[in-house]
Amino acid sequence: MARMHGIHEMEESDSPATHAKRLASLRADAVDRVTSTSAALRALVQDRSSLNDDDEHDPDGAPLSAEWSRLAGQVDAAQSELRQIEAALLRLEEGRYGVCSTCGQRIPNIRLRVRPFAEHCVSCAEQRRGRGRQ
Ligand SMILES: [Zn+2]
Repeated sequence: MARMHGIHEMEESDSPATHAKRLASLRADAVDRVTSTSAALRALVQDRSSLNDDDEHDPDGAPLSAEWSRLAGQVDAAQSELRQIEAALLRLEEGRYGVCSTCGQRIPNIRLRVRPFAEHCVSCAEQRRGRGRQ
């Protein structure tokens, strides 16, 4: 298969199988991250209940709360990424993958390579971001 360069690269589309493979490996990464961050969070909670039994009733005895919220944030981020990837896999299955869910235009392949679970084309994504800030 000949590879084009420059402007033609925008028009070159990956096959659904390529998208599926890319999404599957992203999903495996996200699952790993959900698993490891959740395990770290659980370990933290367990450490705290076994080591700090005596501090249970001390209102200031929460030295791990900053670490706890940091880990909880990581669990949330990993879970949200996993949801986006699974939604993209579902769109792929239904033949809606790579189509902007706002305007219905095809999302350029080059964008899908950078952001395989993109649900919107660049201009719709920018409009949504802009609205979000205002
Ligand atoms: Zn769009």
